Amino acid sequence: MFSQTLPIITSPDPILNEVCTDCELPDRSLSRLAKQMINTMYKNNGCGLAAPQVGVTKRLIVVDCDEENWGKDPLVLVNPELVETHGEEVVGSEGCLSLPGISVPIKRPEWARVQYYDLDGELWELESDGLLGRCLQHEIDHLNGKTMFEACTPQDKIKALKDYEIAREAGAKPGETSVQ
Ligand SMILES: [Zn+2]
Repeated sequence: MFSQTLPIITSPDPILNEVCTDCELPDRSLSRLAKQMINTMYKNNGCGLAAPQVGVTKRLIVVDCDEENWGKDPLVLVNPELVETHGEEVVGSEGCLSLPGISVPIKRPEWARVQYYDLDGELWELESDGLLGRCLQHEIDHLNGKTMFEACTPQDKIKALKDYEIAREAGAKPGETSVQ
């Protein structure tokens, strides 16, 4: 089932801080990449994955935040753009497959509206709060070269960097948000 997976790039690989370029549509190679990214996300128990996390600096993300039916209906978003956020800024604890072994408190607006293209080049719009709203903002950050270290407060960054060093020494793997 997970035969076509890709290795996950982990911090501090500089590719994670690159600003990704727009995908040109139609592009048949994108479908294959999206499929591999979906497999990689599921294999590592993630709820979202951005192309730079597998070493491709293109604006492509996959997400599945459906807690009840996780694994069934992944979303592929090509050139996603955060067009609007609103609501109170709430702090949530986030994990990231590229920063294995840690979770970081990150403040984000509750609600996000995202425009994106599907693989056929059709334009869509998606609005969400909760886990999906947060995940979309996290993944779009990746496309702008921003990891959780850049998204959190400076104080939290100091702690997160320390936690990450410890987690790396302990051999944390993608998909683990804490190391015993
Ligand atoms: Zn991430």
